Amino acid sequence: MKLVKKYADSLRDVVFPVTCACCGLSTTGKNRYICYWCETKRFQEASGYDTGILPEQVRFVYSMWQFDKGGYLQDLLHNLKYNFLREVGVELGRLLGRRLDENLDNYLTGQIRENEPVLIPVPLHKSKLKKRGYNQAEALAAGISEMTRWEILGQEHVIRQKKTKTQTGLNSGQRAENLRDAFLLKSPESVQGRFPIIVDDVFTTGTTTFELARTICKNRELSTGIVTVAQA
Ligand SMILES: [Zn+2]
Repeated sequence: MKLVKKYADSLRDVVFPVTCACCGLSTTGKNRYICYWCETKRFQEASGYDTGILPEQVRFVYSMWQFDKGGYLQDLLHNLKYNFLREVGVELGRLLGRRLDENLDNYLTGQIRENEPVLIPVPLHKSKLKKRGYNQAEALAAGISEMTRWEILGQEHVIRQKKTKTQTGLNSGQRAENLRDAFLLKSPESVQGRFPIIVDDVFTTGTTTFELARTICKNRELSTGIVTVAQA
């Protein structure tokens, strides 16, 4: 069966050659959209976070790579957002899910491990979703779910009810105000007794993901984790 799959994969690569979304070189095997070299060598591992700065609802933030302003990763994440590269997003999610799976013991300890994790991609406002055609955080979550088998709670459970302005140029107080009550958890029972893990492309100041965590945990004895491709 494995041989058949390998043969089918090689045939597919001949019929539909794919190139790396980062460097443009052709890819082979299970790395379809991000070549093995880019996956393992191009990016710097994220430096990690001081848990002391996190709000009480957030137990951990895990990012895969360090954001490179003006570099390949910025380009890749920009393309992911605006150029409908859903499959690239899913592959990035698989890389993220594999790393998360390997490091689970560092993050999913005690109580969290007993509460089944559930993935929540940061939702887009419906007008933005319509414009872009898809939600890149949802594609990432789909990839993570392939590796971890965790359920995804999508737009039917959590929505972005407020159209927010761009965060650029706002100070931290203005950013928090801009995002206040931006999200709505439509089915509170879906997170009851679970451990929600919020998924996004980049973690910058945390205003967006922290606000989503606040909404999910409000008046409930819950805490969350945050998982992103990049740490800015
Ligand atoms: Zn590459």
